[in-house]
Amino acid sequence: MAKTARKRRGPQQAENAERSYPVSLGQAVELEVTGLNHEGAGVGRHEGYTLFVPKALPGERIRAKVVHAKKNFGFAELQEILNPSPHRTQPPCPVFDRCGGCSLQHLAYAEQLRHKQQIVKDNLQRIGGFSLEGEGAPVVHPTIGMDNPWRYRNKAQVPIGERDGALIGGFYAERSHDIIDIEECMIQHEANDRVVAAVKRIAGRLHIPAYDEVRHTGLLRHVVAKVGASSGEVMVVLITTEAFIPERERLIEEIRRELPDVKSIVQNINPHKTNVIFGDRTITLWGSDVIYDYIGRIKFAISARSFYQVNPEQTRVLYEKTLAYAGLTGEETVIDAYCGIGTISLFLAQKAKHVYGVEIVPEAIADANRNAELNGIGNATFEVGAAEVVIPAWKEQGIRADIIVVDPPRKGCDEALLTTILQMKPQRVVYVSCNPSTLARDLKVLADLYELKEVQPVDMFPHTDHVECVILMLRKGA
Ligand code: SAH
Repeated sequence: MAKTARKRRGPQQAENAERSYPVSLGQAVELEVTGLNHEGAGVGRHEGYTLFVPKALPGERIRAKVVHAKKNFGFAELQEILNPSPHRTQPPCPVFDRCGGCSLQHLAYAEQLRHKQQIVKDNLQRIGGFSLEGEGAPVVHPTIGMDNPWRYRNKAQVPIGERDGALIGGFYAERSHDIIDIEECMIQHEANDRVVAAVKRIAGRLHIPAYDEVRHTGLLRHVVAKVGASSGEVMVVLITTEAFIPERERLIEEIRRELPDVKSIVQNINPHKTNVIFGDRTITLWGSDVIYDYIGRIKFAISARSFYQVNPEQTRVLYEKTLAYAGLTGEETVIDAYCGIGTISLFLAQKAKHVYGVEIVPEAIADANRNAELNGIGNATFEVGAAEVVIPAWKEQGIRADIIVVDPPRKGCDEALLTTILQMKPQRVVYVSCNPSTLARDLKVLADLYELKEVQPVDMFPHTDHVECVILMLRKGA
């Protein structure tokens, strides 16, 4: 609404509005930072006008330069900290200032956890309309963090470029596609760093050309590295513009020699001018087409393209909480909506009578079936389709659910699914969410029939601003 209104404004009005900003571009301001927004930026006010300042922390007095001004708020660049927060720490990553991947590395880990709990509370109150105080109010638990919150990622996706005749790879500089070359990433598993470094070295030696995004020439676009954290198995995925790789056999041989943990070398072909990393065609160049990993006792096959949670240690914590909230005794029928490769479904199937999983990506359902078989789990059924279409059809077929678990993408659940849940009336709803604002919006709809009992934030992405949580709702009067 607001956007349309702004668009319709004539040039004169726009100018007036601009003039009424209490700041101008390039202006230096002194601010008291009073909060931290959901993107990890410090929040301060200058003459009542809100400014967001990345890398500034609550409690700090800072000097900053205005770099972007909108009608109701603007952005400023941190210039000087006049009075640092006691929670400020020295980020160990040498490229922290340029990368943007870890927006909270400068904040002590315990405070990051507290901040994430607060973000969840704010959303539940403001968007969900939940009261978090008084008798019977939902409990928002402290965020469960990691003992060692570094080197947790099991997957790296690195764009490859060329500089001075050598291959480089790392991340894109902020708001550009210029590649910044890095040797290691502090939140990445060491095995993945080793893969990327070795491929850059070997492919460089063999004169395999990097892809040039602007000219749409060259061959090697991305290196994707995956590691099974509990198995140690490593997969190397080379994403190329075409199938032919010069010196292919030597490339494979040298990767195997330099990286003895590699179990799978895969090529994926993406000929398109696009930001999307993977193309449609995948070829196994050497070894297995999957690597294996365990979450708890369940074994998963991970293929080059399948979705798999990136922090396996915390995934286990999250799924155990999900299982506890489901309150299974062995008699229950469970629906797992947005089931991906069946991770949560198979975890729950260990304690349920039957689990029905639904997911929109056909390859993921193929993986889910394979994973069920791999673990000898016979009480899980998977179906391809949109949750909001398949679950109403299940209802028509007479399938009843005692528990419905949902784990939607960032945009949250489709409204038709929420309506179906209200009609199916399971005893419990367990909602796993990677976005507290859509979570709060959806819980408000379910609150007609369900009481929000518990909320458990789990830190899946330390040092970044991502907030994950799992909640339990019980049917009122049940
Ligand atoms: N529960 C899984 C995956 C969660 S990610 C796990 O923990 O690993 C969310 C999943 O929802 C993705 O796999 C995505 O493909 C799927 N998805 C997106 N929209 C969907 C829809 N409308 N219906 C069913 N699945 C959907």
